[in-house]
Order: sequence, then structure tokens, then C-alpha cells
Amino acid sequence: MPYLQAMTVSEPSGSERSERTSPDLIDGLEAGVTTADGHRERFGVEAPARGEVVGHLPACTPADVEAAFDRAETAADAWSDRPPAERAEVFVRYHDRLFENREELLDVIQLETGKARRHAHAEVLDVAMTARYYAYRAESFLESERRRGALPGVTATELHRHPVGTVGVISPWNYPLTLSISDIVPALLAGNAVVLKPSEETSYTALKAAELLYEAGLPRELLHVVTGFGPELGEPLVAAADYVCFTGSTETGRIVARTAGETLTDCSLELGGKNPAIVRPDADVERAAEGLARGCFANAGQLCLAIERIYVHESIRTRFLEAFVDATESMRLGVGPSFDVEMGSLSSEKHLSKVERHVEAAEREGATVVTGGQTRPDVGPYVYEPTVLTGVDESATLHDEETFGPVVSVSGYADDDEAIRRANDTEYGLNASIWTDDTERGRELAARIEAGTVNVNESYAAAWASMDAPMGGMGDSGIGRRHGKEGLFRFTESQTVATQRGPQFAAPGGISYRLYAKLLDATMALQRRVPGLR
Ligand code: NAD
Repeated sequence: MPYLQAMTVSEPSGSERSERTSPDLIDGLEAGVTTADGHRERFGVEAPARGEVVGHLPACTPADVEAAFDRAETAADAWSDRPPAERAEVFVRYHDRLFENREELLDVIQLETGKARRHAHAEVLDVAMTARYYAYRAESFLESERRRGALPGVTATELHRHPVGTVGVISPWNYPLTLSISDIVPALLAGNAVVLKPSEETSYTALKAAELLYEAGLPRELLHVVTGFGPELGEPLVAAADYVCFTGSTETGRIVARTAGETLTDCSLELGGKNPAIVRPDADVERAAEGLARGCFANAGQLCLAIERIYVHESIRTRFLEAFVDATESMRLGVGPSFDVEMGSLSSEKHLSKVERHVEAAEREGATVVTGGQTRPDVGPYVYEPTVLTGVDESATLHDEETFGPVVSVSGYADDDEAIRRANDTEYGLNASIWTDDTERGRELAARIEAGTVNVNESYAAAWASMDAPMGGMGDSGIGRRHGKEGLFRFTESQTVATQRGPQFAAPGGISYRLYAKLLDATMALQRRVPGLR
């Protein structure tokens, strides 16, 4: 039976429907898994839109991880010897291949996640943008630089950036294409090899993305995919890697950090969030309501950057809530291939239960469900309505814990200081949003929010898609940054080479150290005074 045709679709659009069946879509992808010799257990991959297992993949073992690293390390030397411009050609071709295979990619992403097609499409755009951005800049980013020497004119100092070696990437299920590949692109362009362990829930997307990379010309041995479970594969992967790039929950991030601490492996950790939005009294209420509905319910709220707390100035609270509830209630739910669907399914039964638990706990703790709060089995087995709550107390579970679902609380505030205090009342610090007509004031307030990205008059997309600027979390939201130069440099070891000409760092012959020390003091005083020598 054609897989996608069997799904429930709101407002179906016949021409967009895929004719591919689920076995067709994932057929042959298993060949991309790296395993050592021997028998492997297999695990099922579920299609959340149907609540059915659609395929099985090998549960890789620590021996498979070791084999993958051995093979990747062997391939890394020849790759790092290639000039950056030559490496970049692969990623220019990859950009194009993503669009040539767009429909198939969207189908696989939707199959494994149950997300709306527009959110799957955002992943393709994101990976293409990442490939283009780094492909056209890696050469200049990686160029060696002159740095100011110890003694001007005497010490010639250069900075070189070498690949770290082999990078281990561990990715989550919520954006399985973006979060598997967008870190791999700069890691490979910097001259490294990569071993990827995607989420066990969404490994077919990672395998499909890797297949397209090989087709674009990436040598097969440079990227290995191991499928299976984090608690078994995480430790050997971190231990074998020269750098670890982890995206997932804060809880798992701490485990990865502990292992990385033992082996002194450098890492970036992109973790959870409980992201606030502030709506100022001068905001365009309709625009803020629509923008925040997108920002809260994109990917059914399973987005690390999604807004989960909205603070609205008391003077516009009622008006905003009305407009926001309207925008929320008009969202088209569905699980099919139509681009018209605005919100899809949650990823699993387990995750649905977590979202339900959060809303029930909030109600027990005094909150009111203004709209939503129901599962929608008529649409899909794990679909949950976009949900707006009021009266969520600062001591409530929902105030502190990341729900990672389509659930947001709205409350009022009296002035900017209170809004900032409440926005910062979290251990997390990933993303924030400010809505105001006074963009200058918005930027001033942004600087007072403890979050790695702040969007003024947008929820998350403006900062995320500003590929040239670093992106990551403060506090419990993580360590390190992706995107921009920073996102490439983390995959390099910097090396300083200083060449000394003429005088050495020692007292010249015949001069006492006492006199030499005075000379050094005088030189320091001169350097302090002369602007060109500071
Ligand atoms: P998760 O932490 O459960 O899993 C993430 C990955 O870690 C998976 O591949 C999993 O198999 C692996 N893993 C599990 N146990 C492990 C262990 N002991 N050692 C090593 N790896 C292990 O997270 P998830 O449920 O897949 O993803 C949702 C979470 O990810 C949310 O908290 C969300 O906010 C966060 N997230 C953050 C970002 C970001 O950029 N900051 C982006 C997306 C998602």
C-alpha cells in the first residue's frame, strides 16, 4: 500500500502526494551502516504517523564503533591533504543533490518523524544553506594568518589551523537531517573524517543524507554511520573521537561531558531550552500572535529553539491572548505530505505521554488550559493539539522543565525589568524572542537576556538562519557554538608557529641580568605608551 497515501491528511493536495511506498523509500539504506564482522541484533524504526514499525536496522555494538573509527582515521590523512577548495567542491555538488532528491528526502523525514512537510522542507533548506555557506568560505576561514609577534620585527608569528582528526557526531530525532548533517559539513570541510550516530528513531534520514554525500563525491570512508542506542554506543564513540559534537537533551549531554572529561576530548554540546518570549506594549499584536504561534508550534514544538513561555505586557495581555488563541486554533493539523499542514505528529508514544503529563501536572498546579490540551487520534496516533495555558506559577513544573511539545504558557508583566527577570528565570539559555515596535529598545533588552540567540520580532528563524553568526546555548543549554567561523574552528586545532630572527630572549653577551631586566622594563614602558606597539 502506498505509505503516504494511507495517512490522514488535513486539506490534502492531490498533486503533492507521493506515490512511493515505505519499503521503496528506505530500501537499500541499511547498506550504509558500518559494522564489524558478526551477527547483530536488529531494532525496529517506527513511522509515528501510523504508529507502526516500517523497517529494521542493526543495533551496532562498541566493536562496530571501533571499526568505524579505524576506517575513518585511515581515510582522514588523504582527505586533509587535499586543498580546502577541492574539498569544497563536494559540498557545492551536495547542495544541488539535496534539491534533485528533495521529494524523496522529505518523504523519508516525514516517514520517520511524522512532522509536517513544511518542517521537513525547512531541514532541506537548512542543510543546503549550511553546505553553500561553508563550501564558499572554508578556504578563506582555514587560511593561515599572521599574528602579532612577541617582538615586532623580530618575531614572525603565524597561526595555522589543522583538522582535529576524527569527529564523533551524536544527533537527536527532532530534526534528523539538519542536526545530523549541519555539523558534519564544517567538520569534513575542515579536513576531518566523521563517525555519526544518529538517533535510533530516525536513522534512515541520516543514512539517506549520507548516501547523497557519497553521490556528491565524498569518499565513502570519510563518513561512517553507526545505528543503535546511545547508552551502549555513546561511551566508545566519545572515547575514540578527537572531537565530539553532541545534540540532544541536557541530561544526556551531561553524560557525554563526563566521558569527554575522562578522555580529555573537546566537545560541543547543543542541549535543551525553555525559551521565553517578551511581547512589549508597543508590539504589533497580530504580528506577534501569528509569529509566536509559528515559533511555539513549529515541528509540533519539538524544536530546541521553540518558545515555551510568553510574557506579555499587562496593557495588551487580553488582546494578545485573544489573537494568539485565534492563531493557535486556526492551525491545520495533519500527518500527510501536503505543504498546507501546519503542525504534524509528535515523534512517539513515549513523547506524547511526556507532553500529556506536563499539561496534566500544570493543571493540577493551578494552570488553566485556554485552548488545546487534547490528543487527536483522529488525525494521527501521536498527534497532540497546540495548547495554550495561563496561570502557570513560577514554582510549577511546566515553568522550569522543557516540554519539547506544542505547549506554551502565557502570563503578564508590568515593566521591562520584570520581563527580563522572568525571562532569565531558568537554568537554560538557548533562545529568546522580543516583540516590539521600538527595535532599538528591543536590542537593548536582548543584551540583558541570558540566551545564546535573541530574535527581535521573530521567534527563532532569524537567528538560526543567520548562518554567519554563531549559535548555541548558555547555562544548561550547552557548550560551544555552531554556524559561522566559530562552527568551523571547533573542528580544528590551532597551532602557533613563531620564528625568531636576531636577538634571543636572553641577556646579550657582556650585559648583566640586572641591566637586562632594566632594559626589559623600559621596553615594556615604551610599548605601553606608543599606540603602535601596544
Ligand atoms: P537524547 O539526549 O535522548 O538523545 C540524543 C542522542 O543521544 C541520540 O542519538 C541518543 O541515542 C543519544 N544518547 C542517548 N543516551 C546516550 C548516552 N548515554 N551517551 C551518548 N549518547 C546517548 O535527546 P532526544 O530526545 O533525541 O532529543 C531531544 C532533546 O534534544 C531536547 O532536549 C532538545 O531540546 C535537544 N535539542 C537541542 C538542540 C540544540 O541545538 N541545542 C537541537 C535539537 C534538540
